[in-house]
Amino acid sequence: MERTLHSSSGQNGNDRMPVLFVGHGSPMYAIEQNEFTQSWQKLGKTIPKPKAIICISAHWETNGTMVTALPKPPIIHDFGGFPRELYTIEYPADGNLSLAHDIQKSTRSALIGLDDKWGYDHGCWCVIRHMYPNADIPVIQLSLDYNKPAQYHYELAKELVDYRNNGVLIIGSGNLVHNLRAIAWDKANNPEYGFDWALQANEIFKKLIIDDNHKALINYSTLGKEVMMAVPSPDHFLPLLYSLALKDSDDSITFFNDKAVMGSLSMTSVKIG
Ligand code: ZN
Repeated sequence: MERTLHSSSGQNGNDRMPVLFVGHGSPMYAIEQNEFTQSWQKLGKTIPKPKAIICISAHWETNGTMVTALPKPPIIHDFGGFPRELYTIEYPADGNLSLAHDIQKSTRSALIGLDDKWGYDHGCWCVIRHMYPNADIPVIQLSLDYNKPAQYHYELAKELVDYRNNGVLIIGSGNLVHNLRAIAWDKANNPEYGFDWALQANEIFKKLIIDDNHKALINYSTLGKEVMMAVPSPDHFLPLLYSLALKDSDDSITFFNDKAVMGSLSMTSVKIG
């Protein structure tokens, strides 16, 4: 993909895509029909059809930043203990080698490696198969470098803006509130349940997102004990920073799937633009 340097906000007509942060929740949502998956299906039908997708998933952490570079990436069933049906799912979307190479070549703030082993992890395919069931859009993933601070991820994401402006859908996939150790298993069948701290952290995040206070979100470890409970490790939170880094001042913010489940997870998702 050619990078076009002068195609920012509105200049390039229909090619400018919204940016998403999606709370992906349980791998079971890949095969379930519920209000969350219905939102994903609706999104796939209502936003402009992208030329390609770049997904930054909580479930691909690496030493250094990598981009998937396989023509036909396999699905990774990166979870255990779920019903057999979940392990039989395939999602045969093509990769996009030229896009992967272009990201590697053009990124200035980081050295990006090409990865020929990783395919699509469940943070990516569980959501995208609902959005684009025909698997007719090429998808690549960009990994999270586990050595780097939040600011690194935010700065790196800013360099993806030309892809956004040229028809590529960028999806951060994680969960704003994600504390597996605190899960309320007895509430697994409730459609909505959040501990007080989880609901409070979710509201803190939403307010900062609305206020465009990205600095506070980058420094999330100073936001108090509710946020520390919500983000016990950075993996599910950092994808949000990738999405927010691509926000322009004239972009609108829309929240969807704004609910807590199982006490310590929130499905709260953000559409930018
Ligand atoms: Zn996850």
